[in-house]
Amino acid sequence: MRKNRRNFLFKAVLGAFAAPFLNVISCASRTPENSIDFPIVISTWYAGLNANKEAMRILKNGGNSLDAVEKGVKIAEADAENQYVGIGGKPDRDGYVTLDACIMDWNGNAGSVSFLQDIKHPISVARRVMEKTPHVMLVGEGAHQFALEEGFEKVDLLTKKSQKDWTEWKKTSEYKPIINTENHDTIGQLAIDKKGNISGACTTSGMAFKMHGRVGDSPIIGAGLFVDNEVGGAVATGLGEAVLRTLTSFLVVEFMRDGHSPQKACELAIGRLVKKHSNHKDFQVAIIALDKKGNYGSFAIQKGFEYALAHGDSNELAEAKSAI
Ligand code: ASP
Repeated sequence: MRKNRRNFLFKAVLGAFAAPFLNVISCASRTPENSIDFPIVISTWYAGLNANKEAMRILKNGGNSLDAVEKGVKIAEADAENQYVGIGGKPDRDGYVTLDACIMDWNGNAGSVSFLQDIKHPISVARRVMEKTPHVMLVGEGAHQFALEEGFEKVDLLTKKSQKDWTEWKKTSEYKPIINTENHDTIGQLAIDKKGNISGACTTSGMAFKMHGRVGDSPIIGAGLFVDNEVGGAVATGLGEAVLRTLTSFLVVEFMRDGHSPQKACELAIGRLVKKHSNHKDFQVAIIALDKKGNYGSFAIQKGFEYALAHGDSNELAEAKSAI
């Protein structure tokens, strides 16, 4: 990390004299610990493995990072066994599956949908919001109407399995958000394509048995996801309320802008969140980050957070370091 900071300062001084050669210098001076060649895809949790596979297929064929992250996370959205994303997501406490998603590209464009029902691929609706409307975010009925107008099919998202879990939960109806430390499947993905452009996507059914109308961090630009192609990107998972209070993804990118490596930036942002939440031992928040040069990082409050990293021919799960 220290070396990274030195490189940053070195480049700042050199920049005025050697701007045309900066790319060459930047490659030669990569931080060795976590730096890898493009294209790269990094995703949250186990479901990230299949999502990475699809994103990598697109990137290796010369596709851009926006197409890669959209199609990548759609794999998780379409998986009915995954009870935290898209179809099959666990419902809210009134029995409705409500979905949140957002997407950002390397030009700083952003799109988001929230509290969306009966649509299988909220990430694609978020992309349409970004590309076809003057807005960044549509919610609820408005988002649903827009999706239908755009040709998305109406689908019942509540699978038998999730309905059964909800029926079981109703026996006690204890309103306690389920955020365990090892079994989230909200998927956040960051990709850097062959041209070095970064995009990110984040999609979720949110907390199981949440209050009807509850929205977490995942569709909020700067909270669940942030990308600035000059610097890098970050995506968060875990207790959305804590991420919302501290705008974790934006914060990570800003720490990277200040010259910190993605790893250090993730540690600083989780450190800030921990400091602001005296009850942090009771929940999980985890973050992954990727910078412009191909350095990556990850950090979590609790042990048990896994992320999937794909580059070259490899696509593997790794466990992030944690604060506790
Ligand atoms: N961040 C998501 C939310 O709060 C949940 C998760 O990542 O598991 O809705």
